[in-house]
Amino acid sequence: MKQKSPVMRICISCRKTYNRKDLLKITKDHNKGIMFHKGIGRSAYICKSKKCYFDSKIKKKLQKALKTDLKPEFIEIFEKELQATMTSPIREYN
Ligand SMILES: [Zn+2]
Repeated sequence: MKQKSPVMRICISCRKTYNRKDLLKITKDHNKGIMFHKGIGRSAYICKSKKCYFDSKIKKKLQKALKTDLKPEFIEIFEKELQATMTSPIREYN
């Protein structure tokens, strides 16, 4: 039996490497704009730690990672998404 090694990605806030499944993925889709967990294009990942979710610079880091300006509408959706993800169990890595 061959074991699949997990796909690792870096959190844009703490710069630590995590299994992709444990990260919130934000993608700037070529056609549909910014999406969560889906879409094709430049992606950024945030780990599920409170420290990173409530990072005061997270929006700036996200803009930099996605190389785009985030619209206020998106920020609102982003914050709701964070809240929703926060209700799922948190893993502490530190
Ligand atoms: Zn992080």
